[in-house]
Parts: sequence; structure tokens; C-alpha cells
Amino acid sequence: MTATSPSDATDDAGRIRECYRCDRTIAPEFLFRIEVEPSATLTDKYATSVRYCCENCAAAMNLSAFSAQWKANARR
Ligand SMILES: [Zn+2]
Repeated sequence: MTATSPSDATDDAGRIRECYRCDRTIAPEFLFRIEVEPSATLTDKYATSVRYCCENCAAAMNLSAFSAQWKANARR
């Protein structure tokens, strides 16, 4: 038997990443991208950071609820 492991060239856009919470390797199409941006006052202390997490962890953190809030904030 031959076990072939596909070693694709890692494209930066469609890159396989690890979930920052559970450390599982997740395909890019199943990743949640979380961007944390501090207010102007806090930028001295904190930098904007981006995290990637899996669907399960996103659900555990109620990120879908965040999504609804963002939409409400963006309403004009
Ligand atoms: Zn996870």
C-alpha cells in the first residue's frame, strides 16, 4: 500500500492553519477569522491582532451573535 500525503505548496491565501483554541489543523474554508482591534486609547498598549479558529470553537464562543451585533452597529 502506498500512503500518499499531498504536500501542496502553501499559498498564503488558502493556507491551512491551526485553531488558536484547540490547536486542531483546519482547512481554510472552515476557518473563522477573528480580528481584534483596540480603540485609539488602547493602541499604545495593544496591537490589532488576528486569530483563526475552527467552527466548533467559534460556535462555543457565540461568534454568530457577534456577527449580529456588528451588523447592528454598521446600520445607518
Ligand atoms: Zn478550535
